[in-house]
Amino acid sequence: MSQHSVLLLPGDGIGPEVVGEAKKVMEAVASLHDFGIDFSVADLGGVAIDNSGSPYPESTKELAKAADAILLGAVGGPAWDGLPAAERPERGLLAIRADLDLFCNLRPALLYPQLADASSLKPELVAGLDLLIVRELTGGIYFGEPRGIEADESGLRRGFNTDVYDENEIRRIAHLAFQFARKRGGRLCSVDKANVLEVTMLWREIVSDLASEYPDIELSHMYVDNAAMQLVRAPKQFDVVLTGNLFGDILSDTAAMLTGSIGMLPSASLNSESRGLYEPVHGSAPDIAGQGKANPLATILSAAMLLRYSLNEDAAAKSIESAVERVLDSGLRTGDIAAPGESVCSTADMGDAVVTALSAA
Ligand code: NAD
Repeated sequence: MSQHSVLLLPGDGIGPEVVGEAKKVMEAVASLHDFGIDFSVADLGGVAIDNSGSPYPESTKELAKAADAILLGAVGGPAWDGLPAAERPERGLLAIRADLDLFCNLRPALLYPQLADASSLKPELVAGLDLLIVRELTGGIYFGEPRGIEADESGLRRGFNTDVYDENEIRRIAHLAFQFARKRGGRLCSVDKANVLEVTMLWREIVSDLASEYPDIELSHMYVDNAAMQLVRAPKQFDVVLTGNLFGDILSDTAAMLTGSIGMLPSASLNSESRGLYEPVHGSAPDIAGQGKANPLATILSAAMLLRYSLNEDAAAKSIESAVERVLDSGLRTGDIAAPGESVCSTADMGDAVVTALSAA
């Protein structure tokens, strides 16, 4: 029987509630599929600041490096909003991503037919939507140097950042994107601004060169302004979308909204050995924390991604995804996905229902 190690980072706000439900589901699926998971738990974000003075303590760092995969709830909240930027909970998240070299961010946008009415687009445009955004996460303009705000002799201030990618950074994310396209619908669209920005001219050249290694994948290129338009005009044309850090940040949130609720959206950030950090797209939702109102499905679906991409337990991942579908079919809804007037279940009810649906299958 294979044995895996998973580090849980519940974090702040609704984080502990949703991670608790995902843990229940992972335990149930492991026993059904005959593998074991050793869980460890550590602090990240605000809770880590309160307990040890750092958003990413040494003890968390050690456990993160040792684990096969990590499941995170969310970090941040009003209690820490007054801290200087360099000491805030979100710094813990940036630090762990950098520490583990998690350069590949996966954001699936899948619209469950049961929730088609929750999308801001017409149901016929989004019914059956199933796309994957592959975003480069550790390079580009968010990290490029030089950066800053400086004043000239007259006192006129100037802000500046640098958008930079080297060939290796482009190649490693592009390889993964081609491979994800191979596991899905076989189509890859690389998004850039190669008509204006040299950094993305290089991006386009490198991605095009790699295409000969993946003759089974249909590669296309699209400028980011057009991609933003196409995502809301006809989103079902996309299978896998590959893009850099800045464009990916914006496009993945647009794609997220196509699916209706932020409480349904999982994500993964992987390194070159497929070790990864998995987390719901949403934040710590301080407005509903501790009230049993949070939708745990985004975290449960993140756990399914963790099983698939880091633990190689694809059958278990599929079981969780099917169980979530069955629970949605049964009409169970947390507040964020309920139609007006529909009755609403608690965070724990939703987690329990997924466990029951797993065992029933
Ligand atoms: P948020 O995602 O926490 O909440 C936005 C809205 O969505 C709120 O009304 C919230 O109640 C609702 N919501 C979020 N998740 C939900 C769920 N699972 N079920 C039901 N409703 C849900 O975003 P925000 O309010 O902008 O940020 C709150 C805090 O979270 C801030 O401190 C922010 O910095 C932090 N944050 C953390 C992460 C992360 O840890 N990766 C991401 C985004 C925001």
